[in-house]
Amino acid sequence: MTAYIKSNSFVHAVAEQKDIDLAKSRALEAIENKELITPGKEDTLAKVKNDLSSSPKPDTAHFHLLPHSAAELNKMPEVRIPDYLFHRYRYDIFPITQENDNYPPCLQIEPSSICNFRCVFCYQTDAELTKKINGHMGFMDIDLFKNIVDQAEGNVEFVTLASRGEPTIHPKFNELMEYLRNKFLGLKINTNASRLTEEKCHAILQSNASTVVFSADAANEPLYSSMRVNGNLDQTLTNVENFQEIRSKHYPKSPTISRVSGVKFSKDQSIEDMDQTWGGLVDQVAFVDYNPWENSYECKPSNITEPCSDLWRRMFIWWDGKANPCDVDYLSKLKVGNFPEISLRDLWQGKAYQNLRARHLSNDRDKIEPCRRCTVI
Ligand code: SF4
Repeated sequence: MTAYIKSNSFVHAVAEQKDIDLAKSRALEAIENKELITPGKEDTLAKVKNDLSSSPKPDTAHFHLLPHSAAELNKMPEVRIPDYLFHRYRYDIFPITQENDNYPPCLQIEPSSICNFRCVFCYQTDAELTKKINGHMGFMDIDLFKNIVDQAEGNVEFVTLASRGEPTIHPKFNELMEYLRNKFLGLKINTNASRLTEEKCHAILQSNASTVVFSADAANEPLYSSMRVNGNLDQTLTNVENFQEIRSKHYPKSPTISRVSGVKFSKDQSIEDMDQTWGGLVDQVAFVDYNPWENSYECKPSNITEPCSDLWRRMFIWWDGKANPCDVDYLSKLKVGNFPEISLRDLWQGKAYQNLRARHLSNDRDKIEPCRRCTVI
């Protein structure tokens, strides 16, 4: 029987308790092996060990292995586990304790801001973003991409390829994937799967990405294409099936986990239906909570006063080098600088970011656009 686990903003199907238990025991074993621990990481790993071995105390930040982390960890050789835990701890706990060190726990790189879909809940429906003349649309230059990856390698371990647009439509997508190969402990690619050719499947699998996320919100028509406008469920199903076939035929030991993830937008969607259609095809099925991305600048104020966790979790570098704290602010009103004029490290620690964090911490969120309307906490 499938277990459904709610964690953060995720509802996961196909998350089994035994996988989480296995990951926990592998994590504790790896931490005990002193030869695997890089100097400087001992204190954080001691906290990881302590948290994994004890029950959470109220009002304290407690590190857990969530289902998607457990699945990634279980695919990893023991030698990489301590580093993975160190960076997973930064990703999960720093946003709670509001700490930041030299680099963001996660970097989102946007190969393309252009998308072939117009999903109803997405900022791609806003002509302000998509009108050519406004300058927001484009593909990342390959040298800029390589420069970002070079600065991130060894400093940021969670990298996601995607943001406002569809990454697989970048004209040099395969080259991007090749450049990423084996460089990060957690490389994730988000795609709507509509343009997945055989070649692109090989490029993703050869990069040894940890997770590929196929965005799909429904298990049947017309529900699917009523949300994923320009999409076609049969085509998406075929492409995801092809990906799985290529993975099992050519890469039987692939570390790449496949996930279908949808936005929970309408009452007609159910995780059970999703699991029935997609569960047999991919490793994980999930929903993420809806945020009014399509209306970030005009929706009603959220009245949330808590600081936004993303300010301590991740930074976005868009196709033209703009650095932004999130993609809810898809028109980049909160821009914190430009890459490569400012290095990744200096962007993350720079004045613009620190001011934004300080304003959130001093209860000023309701005076910042679009933070005052946003539901991310
Ligand atoms: S708009 Fe503001 S509150 Fe929302 S995700 Fe971005 S930084 Fe956080």
